[in-house]
Amino acid sequence: MDLDFLPEHADFRKEVRDWIEANYPAETRRKQDAGETLGKEDILAWHRTLYKKGWLSPSWPTQYGGTGWDSVRKYIFSEELARAQTCQTSFGLGMIGPVLYTFGTPEQKEKFLTGTMTGDIWWCQGYSEPGAGSDLAGLSTRAVRDGDHYIVSGQKTWTTQGHFADWGFFLVRTNAEGKKQEGISFLLIDMKSPGIEVRPIITIEGGHEVNDVFLDNVRVPVANLIGEENKGWTVAKYLLGHERTGIAGVARSKRGIERLRELAAGELADDAQPLINDSDFRRKVAELEVDLAALEYTELRSLASESSGKGPGPEASLLKVKGTEVGQRLTELTLEAAAHYGAPYARGMGGNIGPIGPDFAGKAAPTYFNMRKTSIFGGSNEIQRNIIAKAVLGL
Ligand SMILES: Cc1cc2nc3c(=O)[nH]c(=O)nc-3n(C[C@H](O)[C@H](O)[C@H](O)COP(=O)(O)OP(=O)(O)OC[C@H]3O[C@@H](n4cnc5c(N)ncnc54)[C@H](O)[C@@H]3O)c2cc1C
Repeated sequence: MDLDFLPEHADFRKEVRDWIEANYPAETRRKQDAGETLGKEDILAWHRTLYKKGWLSPSWPTQYGGTGWDSVRKYIFSEELARAQTCQTSFGLGMIGPVLYTFGTPEQKEKFLTGTMTGDIWWCQGYSEPGAGSDLAGLSTRAVRDGDHYIVSGQKTWTTQGHFADWGFFLVRTNAEGKKQEGISFLLIDMKSPGIEVRPIITIEGGHEVNDVFLDNVRVPVANLIGEENKGWTVAKYLLGHERTGIAGVARSKRGIERLRELAAGELADDAQPLINDSDFRRKVAELEVDLAALEYTELRSLASESSGKGPGPEASLLKVKGTEVGQRLTELTLEAAAHYGAPYARGMGGNIGPIGPDFAGKAAPTYFNMRKTSIFGGSNEIQRNIIAKAVLGL
């Protein structure tokens, strides 16, 4: 098997690299370098730059804005984004986009897809509830039909970037009888509707990413139903497959390991010996690299099968579990590399006691704490293992 890139792929890599360098928004870069939290406008600046270039959503069908690249080009592109440490694009793009072009009516595609691409519609995901996370089908937010509207009441939780969102894609209960999965519908809800309240949840490192969302008799046009009433579970599962593939973050972890090696070799050189000379530390980094290489080939296989028209299958669960485990171990080793310089993480909690030690060390602890979320969200890793056991291993 020849695993080298073709010359045309090397040219493509250069084109992407040069373009990112010339076009990544300067203010967003400045904030990232200074360790400042990015706001909605910072993220949208990059989102819109990619949209104008036509590179916002490479995997989508070309008629909906996809690039038509082969799987190698898509992979190179994601690697270059990671290498340049670009920020994410608007939340939900990779989840609701495929749902809209697969299940949406022509009117829904017209109304929502364009706005999602241009960045005029920022989404949030209203799936989880205080009593329904892993057991998502047990959700109880109810939607009762009233003429051309549904009246929606209930509570969603852990809603990522709900405070930025213009619209949300929600799972609601439209039938309380029979099998739980068969009474769920998928609704698009305008977050400015009367009766919606978004309250922040502050995470362990002091950040505001997630929220509680309360819905009190919110009127939602029936025209905002995706697919058929009570058939939302099929749409919900399709969306989760796309969410899980996106979480693996192979290219970002690859860049993270390179950076970790640089840090352990150099930046902490006021120590008598660079950390990378420590055989135990080197072994841990090498083990991580081996796992990441295996994950990379699994992801390439999954990309190749997506390019041949198949959506992500249960192997998305494999990518999610391994990708998040690698990502978390990387933050553990980075914190180990930062050693005592990693301690003043209070900076991330608004304490701002000023930098101590090298710059990277200040971010090591907040990043370590923040990354604990990745084995929980998008369906916890335990649940993914159950899916792998059933759907991949046939147990
Ligand atoms: C940072 C963050 C962002 C999130 N963003 C969103 C969002 O934008 N929108 C959204 O809808 N949700 C979001 N979530 C919610 C996320 O999807 C849920 O947290 C997740 O599905 C787990 O549900 P739970 O928290 O209710 O835990 P529970 O379901 O109560 O699980 C508790 C523990 O029990 C384990 N467990 C449960 N059932 C089983 C089983 N059958 N077998 C083995 N182990 C089991 C779980 O793995 C977990 O460790 C987010 C979560 C986090 C942490």
